Amino acid sequence: MTTIDTPTRPLDFIREIVEDDQRSGKNGGRVVTRFPPEPNGYLHIGHAKSICLNFGVAAEYGGRCHLRFDDTNPSKEEVEYEDSIVDDVRWLGFDWGQHRYHASDYFEQLYQFAEHLIANGNAYVDSLSADEIRQYRGTLTEPGRDSPFRSRSIEENLDLFRRMRACEFPDGAHLLRAKIDMASPNMNMRDPALYRIRNERHHRTADAWCIYPMYDYAHPLSDALELITHSLCTLEFEDHRPLYDWCIENLPLPSRPQQIEFARLNMSYTVLSKRKLLQLVREKCVDGWDDPRMPTLAGFRRRGYTPAAIRNFCERIGVAKRNGVVDVAMLEHAIREDLNLTAPRVMAVLRPIRLVIDNYPESQAEEFDSPINPEDPAAGARKVPFSRVLYIEREDFMENPPKKFFRLSPGSEVRLRSAYFVTCTGVVRDDAGEVSEVHCTYDPATRGGGNAPDGRKPKATLHWVSAEHAIDAVVRLYDRLFVSENPEDVEEGKSFLDMINPSSLEVLSACKVEPGVASASAGTRYQFERLGYFCVDPDSEPGRLVFNRTATLRDTWARIAAAK
Ligand code: ATP
Ligand code: MG
Repeated sequence: MTTIDTPTRPLDFIREIVEDDQRSGKNGGRVVTRFPPEPNGYLHIGHAKSICLNFGVAAEYGGRCHLRFDDTNPSKEEVEYEDSIVDDVRWLGFDWGQHRYHASDYFEQLYQFAEHLIANGNAYVDSLSADEIRQYRGTLTEPGRDSPFRSRSIEENLDLFRRMRACEFPDGAHLLRAKIDMASPNMNMRDPALYRIRNERHHRTADAWCIYPMYDYAHPLSDALELITHSLCTLEFEDHRPLYDWCIENLPLPSRPQQIEFARLNMSYTVLSKRKLLQLVREKCVDGWDDPRMPTLAGFRRRGYTPAAIRNFCERIGVAKRNGVVDVAMLEHAIREDLNLTAPRVMAVLRPIRLVIDNYPESQAEEFDSPINPEDPAAGARKVPFSRVLYIEREDFMENPPKKFFRLSPGSEVRLRSAYFVTCTGVVRDDAGEVSEVHCTYDPATRGGGNAPDGRKPKATLHWVSAEHAIDAVVRLYDRLFVSENPEDVEEGKSFLDMINPSSLEVLSACKVEPGVASASAGTRYQFERLGYFCVDPDSEPGRLVFNRTATLRDTWARIAAAK
């Protein structure tokens, strides 16, 4: 695994808190964190930030990090999502050891704790309708009003709650609420719901329950039961912290975790809400959760991103207390930087045109050594076959070139990488008058593509493949999925779906690649010389590889933005 050195940075505010706690002996010096996804979608790059933070802090301070599925919502959760989350966290390079949990593991304990709250007068069963509850809640500027059911006796509350558990009631008939303060300026403290009736099957507990705990109740309790010390979450939960603390303080729990909020990752040209990603999948704007244009970890993996690049990106963006937007170019930079050091070079021609070397013997073929990776001399060289008929990139030839065009044109000489210098002598046209073949002669004295004995140096070096030896390939050129920097910021009547980049995918099906890659397995990454980074897709078949473009060699969007 490659890691890229990053300059040592000052501690972020979370690591400062953790170090202070260790110094003061809080939690006996233990550090236990958790990553708590809801299994209702695939993980995205925002989750990667949270994963790197939680697992990173635990590892740095000699602690551990739990993977906990927050599966309190029976209807939206699926096993497929849970499996994908497990794969993705592992792929990113993190290990929870034995500590894989589910909020649903604690349903019985959470229920007993709820009875405890009722017994202490800290919770009651409300029987208002959902509409009435909304009306009683008040607004940001007006206090709420007590429900007429707030004064139910402990006995009546216990009886009703037990009957709720026994599935005697339809959805919505009753609600267990914390008895806190209907006049609190914090809406989350106005007698928040703790349990609701949902006569629904759960993917793990099956039909055992028809009441399900609310996230704000289940989460602090799960944390405490797992002896979590630092419960790191995103800023939206800041206003929920008093409720988190209230739950911890009012129950006989084995530990007192501390909730700390940090800014979520937002990224330009990207949407990072599971609901919207699900919409892209459902409405078939992409080919599934792992479509290489998706900002999901499964998508990045299929696109050819490395876990190291994503971890480096997460480390560089750091952790802060204020929300901002990270430029997607930073992530693209991280993958280029990693693959530049690690990806073997090969030559591939995406839009081929034949190049015939008229003075090269017809029956002859030879092999040239070309470096596997100039950034890594230890990687050595590969053999690239050469023969009389080659393919070059159609755009590397122009019949009537403008002044600054140094590639191939009638009469000009170029270097073929690692092979020979060739001079263009003419073209052959098809019936439609299009150039179908470029003809040239080669200079045997330039063998190996180094410099000519007379010292002449062509201004351009082209990549090529031998027509007879090359293998066929399909290449998918992926680009950013959205044309807008902030796809969620749209005028009225439009949606983020209107911001989709119509050219986010171009499929080239007649590509030619040097034969050394023929048996490459899915996931293998290459640099196609002069073109970018590409990765073998699982859709590949023997004799017909499919490549996904991971990244261009340079940031082409920056040029577009600068030109604006
Ligand atoms: P979404 O808003 O995309 O639906 P979520 O917050 O509902 O995501 P969860 O499965 O609950 O998704 O998230 C698991 C953990 O990942 C939570 O601790 C959450 O705070 C964190 N997380 C989610 N999105 C981001 C993000 N964009 N940046 C950083 N952390 C995130
Ligand atoms: Mg959530």
